[in-house]
This record gives sequence, structure tokens and C-alpha cells, in this order.
Amino acid sequence: MSIKQQFRTLGEGLSGLLYPRLCLNCRQTVTRGQPTQLCFSCQSDLALTEHWLLPENELTDRLTGRLPLTFGAALLFFNTGTVCQQLIHALKYHHRPDIGVELGQRLGALLKEHPALQDLDGLVPVPIHPDRRHQRGYNQAEEIGRGVSRALGKPMYADALRRRSFKGSQTKKSRFERVENTRDSFITGTGDFTGKHLLLIDDVLTTGATLDFCGNILLEHHPELRVGIATLAITAG
Ligand SMILES: [Zn+2]
Repeated sequence: MSIKQQFRTLGEGLSGLLYPRLCLNCRQTVTRGQPTQLCFSCQSDLALTEHWLLPENELTDRLTGRLPLTFGAALLFFNTGTVCQQLIHALKYHHRPDIGVELGQRLGALLKEHPALQDLDGLVPVPIHPDRRHQRGYNQAEEIGRGVSRALGKPMYADALRRRSFKGSQTKKSRFERVENTRDSFITGTGDFTGKHLLLIDDVLTTGATLDFCGNILLEHHPELRVGIATLAITAG
């Protein structure tokens, strides 16, 4: 072992004593050498989708006829009362951006060798409402993107899309008006992505409406652009 490696091992040992690795979900100490920052119990509760092995899957099916995709995958199935739900909830409401980065990195590691993503140019996180971002202190999709970006070694274009705020309560509007309002709240940001291949990043895919709007806005504004989607989770049909 070189001197450098010895120092690194020593450093890791000391930081392990001072800051033991805690499970992202239940905060129990995680056994050293575990590949993910989840304890065995929380880890075994997660339902991996294995979407990265299937060109057509629940995620791509949900966008069929709405947004042409080069690729689509969610990392986990989102079910009520599961560790996945707790992790996403903590990421969004309990100031835990680290969950987004860690799971994003895990997602990115699974996508790194994917044939459909070998010509990928970068990542675009779905923007959140400016008021919400201010309140939360971060955009969870951007934190996920940070992890994916680290694993893939691809840049993130956090400003490629923007979200503007609308005055007035959404609750008094009809469902149709709310959908229209959401569609109109996304606008194109900075950067020229002509002929590029981008991967849209979000936390949970439900109906797919948000990613449909975001993807189509990018396609309208950048000639010959291609887009794929990667999310942390997908809800059941
Ligand atoms: Zn745990």
C-alpha cells in the first residue's frame, strides 16, 4: 500500500469514527463496505424496476404518443408505506438533498453502460416553482441530477428549462385549467441544444404530464434534439 493510500485509509477510518455512515432512511449505522448508504433492512424494502434492461417499460408506456423518447427508466417502484415513499418524502419535505444525490448516483451507475445513452450530452432537471424552491432551499430534481451527473460524467444544464409563477389559487380552477396552467408554467431557458441528446431528470413520475410538457418544450425550441427520461421512482399504473 502506498503512503497516499495509507493516508486515505487512515482518513476514512477517522471520518468513520467521527461521522459514521448512517442509513439514508432509518439513520442506523451502515455496515462498512456496503455499496449503498442504506442499511440491509431498508435496502431490501426497495423495489427496483429494472427498466434499464427493457427498451419498453412502465415509464416509456406512460409517455407513448405524447413525447418521443430515446430512453426511459425509473429506479424504483413507488408504493405507499414503503421505504421508497419515505425517502422521497424526506427528500422533498425534510431538507434531505443528500438522498437525491445518493440515489441519483445509484441511478446513474446503472445507466452508465446503457447502449441508448452512449451519445448523451447532458442532463436537464425538471424545474420547480420559484416559491417552492425558495421555501425548500433546493430543487430535488437538481440534487438527483447532481448524483446522476457524477456517475455518468455528463454535465447538468439546470437552466435549460424554467418555471414561472402564476398568481391566483390553483384550487379554484377546473382540472382542465390546472393542466393548462401547469403546461404554461414551463418555459425554455438558456443554452442551444441543437442536435443534442439530453436526459430529463425528475423525482417521481405519476401521470407523466410534467415530463411530457418539459420534453415537448425542449423539442420545440431546439432543432434535432433527442430526449430521454430518468426518474427516481414511478407510481403504480
Ligand atoms: Zn435503514
